[in-house]
Amino acid sequence: MSPEQEFDSYPRINIAIDGFSSCGKSTLAKSLAKTLHYRYLDTGAMYRAVGYFAIQHGLLDEEGLPNRSLLIQSLPSMQVGFSIDPATGASQVSLSGEVVEGNIRNLQVATLASKVSQIREVRDYVQVLQKQMAKEKGVVMDGRDIGTVVMPQAELKIFMTADPSVRAQRRQIELQLQGKELPIELVLEQQMARDFEDENRTEDPLRKAQDAVVLDNTFLSMEEQLTMALNWVKALPSNS
Ligand code: C5P
Repeated sequence: MSPEQEFDSYPRINIAIDGFSSCGKSTLAKSLAKTLHYRYLDTGAMYRAVGYFAIQHGLLDEEGLPNRSLLIQSLPSMQVGFSIDPATGASQVSLSGEVVEGNIRNLQVATLASKVSQIREVRDYVQVLQKQMAKEKGVVMDGRDIGTVVMPQAELKIFMTADPSVRAQRRQIELQLQGKELPIELVLEQQMARDFEDENRTEDPLRKAQDAVVLDNTFLSMEEQLTMALNWVKALPSNS
């Protein structure tokens, strides 16, 4: 049996991946989904889409922060959704049916995502969609509250971490590839601010679920972290 056939023969499960910003959660989640033939859901993209919606609709105050009450009023008309890119098979987030992937991967939207995600009503709105997707098994979801709130029943929960300066370097390279040159100090500063807000907010703060396994990838390659996660899948009681 090939390794892929072996995984296909296992009962389908859900996999929750949580962790700090720029830890490589989405890289691992995508490669796990590809190997296991599962669906991948990037929950951070949903908060980014809400942040982008706030920019598009002028829902920011003078300091550039989201206007809480206007944003809450707009939730019913927001229509955050997901579709699959037919060319690549990757999932892409949309607003009212329009794909906004190209508009949400920048520092302004990342900072706004971190702010809007502190609003209870926003979290309730996106978590309903996320929980719906988790009902059908065979989902890999990454975020900050997946193992603790969105999929507490997930069969495998991974909490990812890595040295902050290594994460900032990786992020800086990612931004360079998008043609954005940012000093490492600024990337690190913004990353630390987001980590602090994610860990210290009142609503669903970033926490390792009690039964999550920790994956520190400071010194791991992408292949090594995938192998480690697949070994955890193999070791699940349902698969041994
Ligand atoms: O993962 P990503 O950097 O795209 O997430 C953007 C922001 O959305 C995070 O900084 C975090 O504040 C928020 N988020 C969250 N819960 C999730 C996913 C992301 O609060 N499940």
